[in-house]
Amino acid sequence: MTEPVADLSSSPSSSSPGVDGEPIVEPVDSPPKLMVSVTELRKRLGQRQVEDIEVRLGRRQVVASRTTDEPVVGQLTIESIERGVTVRGQISFSWSGECRRCLDDTGSSLEVDIDEIFQVNAPEDSEIVDFDGDQIDLLPVVRDAVVFSLPLAPLCRPDCPGPDPDRYPAMSVEQSEEARRAERKEELERDGDPRWSALDQLDFDS
Ligand SMILES: [Zn+2]
Repeated sequence: MTEPVADLSSSPSSSSPGVDGEPIVEPVDSPPKLMVSVTELRKRLGQRQVEDIEVRLGRRQVVASRTTDEPVVGQLTIESIERGVTVRGQISFSWSGECRRCLDDTGSSLEVDIDEIFQVNAPEDSEIVDFDGDQIDLLPVVRDAVVFSLPLAPLCRPDCPGPDPDRYPAMSVEQSEEARRAERKEELERDGDPRWSALDQLDFDS
């Protein structure tokens, strides 16, 4: 007899934070929307509109760092231009991760600049975001800015010495080269390498 296997597929998991070490995790609950209507704004060129942003992206992860459960916040200014709008401003978010040297938990908050152009019939293969002329979606803009600025190789502090500085002293390339050479020389001398005995016989004083 085998134990019945619980069906986990239907269990609600929207609030579970996910398992450390997983690749980028999509939010389980329906993704938040950051749609902004710009129909009115676009009636006059140069007109501006300020949007306060506060959005939870769900867990986003790169190699050794991830977003926290804190919302991404910021303020973006949308400005009407020919055939579209620009979106500029700053967002901030917090991240957590493991120090790449000592593997301790670390984390910080980051501020990221946003500078995006939305255009009706935007040319393909360009950085410009295509939109219908009436609504822009700020979510991918915010999400990408966050994911691309997550640190790939975090440090708990700039001079973190690593897990055990006595056992693994930080050596420069030259130092480690020298250490290797000295070790090799010692080895050869101990084993009586003929090249060294030949050197011993040289008279440097003459
Ligand atoms: Zn560290």
